[in-house]
Formats: sequence, C-alpha cells, structure tokens
Amino acid sequence: MSVHHAFPDDASPVRIDDGLQLLDLGFQGRSGAIGSWLLAGNGELALFEVGPGSTRENLERMVRRAGHAIADVSRLIVTHIHLDHAGAAGALMRDHSHLRLTLHEAAAPFLVSVDRLWNSAARIYGDQMTPLWGEAIDVPADRIDSVRDGDVIQVAGTTLRAVSTPGHAGTHLAYFDEQRRVLFTGDAAGARMSGTSLVVPTLAPPELDFELWAATVDVMRALAPEQLALTHFGLFDDAERHLDDIMPSIEAAMEIAGRVLRSPDDEPALTEALDAAMHTAYETEGGDVSGKYDSMQLAMPGYLAAKGLVRVFRKSGRFEDGRQR
Ligand SMILES: [Zn+2]
Repeated sequence: MSVHHAFPDDASPVRIDDGLQLLDLGFQGRSGAIGSWLLAGNGELALFEVGPGSTRENLERMVRRAGHAIADVSRLIVTHIHLDHAGAAGALMRDHSHLRLTLHEAAAPFLVSVDRLWNSAARIYGDQMTPLWGEAIDVPADRIDSVRDGDVIQVAGTTLRAVSTPGHAGTHLAYFDEQRRVLFTGDAAGARMSGTSLVVPTLAPPELDFELWAATVDVMRALAPEQLALTHFGLFDDAERHLDDIMPSIEAAMEIAGRVLRSPDDEPALTEALDAAMHTAYETEGGDVSGKYDSMQLAMPGYLAAKGLVRVFRKSGRFEDGRQR
C-alpha cells in the first residue's frame, strides 16, 4: 500500500504489534506527513507525539479506529516542542483533565507559556499559522512530567529510555523502547516517507546545530536500534543504513547552500534548488515520485530548510566572509 496520497475518510491505523500502532494524522489532507504512535499495554494507553492542533480531530478519530477512546489515554509523550509534534498537547490536556505530558525538562517552559513559540513560528508561516497548526494553548505546568537524558520510564507495558538528541532542536529527546528495540526519533533522524529510502534532513530554523547533530547520530547508532520510528513518517527496518545517511544528507544540503547563497536575499533560489534536488532524488528512486514529493513537502518543505540554512549561514558569519573576499 502506498501512503503518499490524499488522506482517505476511512484511513485506519497501522498495527505494528499488539501494543503499538501508527496513526496517520492526515496533515493538510494528505497521508504520510505527520504521525502519532499509540502505545497500549498493562492497562495503560499513551500517545507518542500528538501532532498539531489542526489535526486533533483526525488524531481522536484514529485513536477510536485503533479500538480505543482518547478519554482512556493517560499519557502524552513528545520529542520536542515544535508545533507539528506537540501543538495539540495543551488543548488535549484542557479537555481531558487526567492527561499528563512527558517532555524534556528544559522544553517544558515553552509549552507552559506557548506564546513565544507561537510568535516565533508566526515569523515563518505568517497568515498560514491557523490553517497549518490550528490551536495551540498553554500546557498546565503541574501536569508535566519532565525528563532528562538517561531517564527511564515505564509506560503502556514497555520501557522507554529518554535519549538527549540535540541538533535539529536544542531540547530534543528521542526515546528508545528497550523491549522492542525501536528508537522513536522525532526529528533527530530526519524525515523519510514510508516505502522510500531517501533521508531528508529536518532543517527547520531556528536552533540547527550540525556539530551537536553529528554527536546525536553517534549516540543513536550506539543504541543499535533494530528499527527507527519516525514522526515523519513510519517505521523503518534498515536503522543502521538510515542513521549513516543523516549527516551526508545534511552535508549535501549545505553544499547546495554554499553554491546558491551569496546573501540572505538568495533564500528563494535556495528553496528552488533544494526542491529540485529532492525531486531528482525521488525520480532516481522511482515509484510514485509526485506522491512522495508532495507528502515530503508537507513534512519538511524546501522553503523551511532554506530558512534554516540561511540562519545557519548568518549565525556562523558566512555572509560576512563572502563580502570580505
Ligand atoms: Zn521539529
């Protein structure tokens, strides 16, 4: 089954095993862009990643189709604060007073007072904020269970170890399911569409740090996961090969940026170059090229990567260097 299509009304969860299902959130009416993982076991239900406010109805519908009710979920876990991963948390917790949220201790303030995060995103998305992200409201501080690197939590019949994985975002945690040997990577392992091999770096601004990211890849490799569970999108068996491709994918994007960017004004040209490179890569893979490309453009659009890379160039003084030469 290909998932790179319009999100069907009768979309159903992907059952991985008795206790793990992948829920497609149908972001912007398409399949395969943003996912949430439903963990069930020991009489407990947990959602790993909740998606943005805009897909909340789909999230609840998919939980029902997975055979459960959102009212029976007791725990939300998110990898980082970005709206496509954690945006719906506040509204879910407002409407379900027993829900608790697990996240990085240093990330908690950003969701407790979500204004700063929302305003930062608004500088990127402008008047598209509500159509893209829906509602984002504050998370109650007293219902957060903050965790840090190395913490182990027992949840829904399994054991999750929090793994500090900065690079994409400063306060990013991946979680290693020690029973399944599945690593839930959030955005630390980039993005990859189901049924494809192309690893696309998640180059959203404003916190990219490629030195930290390289160390993060080593940390993930050292866990020797058997499978990777990506929020964008799905479960992948070739964990080692995928992890090996992350830094080269970032280097390739930086190489394009080095060719195209002479000043921040070149950002639209960089968007075009990154989009063209992605399209070419999918053409090389073959199959449903436009389907894969369109879903990836929702998960990790070229214009967002271009903004991220312009910021990296700015921060590292590369534009000034260019003028001096
Ligand atoms: Zn992110």
